[in-house]
Amino acid sequence: MNYLYQASYLMALKNRVAASYYGNVMVGCAKKSVLRIESDIKRTICKCCQSPLIPGETARVRLVSKPVKGIKWTCLTCLSIKRYPTKKGYKLWTEQPNSVVQIFNYTSKSVDDKSVTETQKRDLDKGNSVNIEKN
Ligand SMILES: [Zn+2]
Repeated sequence: MNYLYQASYLMALKNRVAASYYGNVMVGCAKKSVLRIESDIKRTICKCCQSPLIPGETARVRLVSKPVKGIKWTCLTCLSIKRYPTKKGYKLWTEQPNSVVQIFNYTSKSVDDKSVTETQKRDLDKGNSVNIEKN
């Protein structure tokens, strides 16, 4: 997914169809393997055509105040609009400290060298995300 995101970003200015295709494949990978795309990355992908949104290049970014104060991203490939409200003191769920249920600490480097450095799991019982970290 990381590779596909980078490929999509590189192709954004050269070939928009290829960039959109790589973005589409990345979203498909995330759906099939039930992985969540980080919200910072997810907000740089067009929801309609999955092409990367680069401000000034493939997207028009404007501050709007009329319905709600926020940022309006217009994709210049498919002209779809995304709006993100900018509320003072608002934090996304993944940025809030109570979204992390448990942090596993693997300080001894004897056995678990093959495990993934950082993965996120979905806790099915409570609906909270779990961060597993290896230090
Ligand atoms: Zn688009």
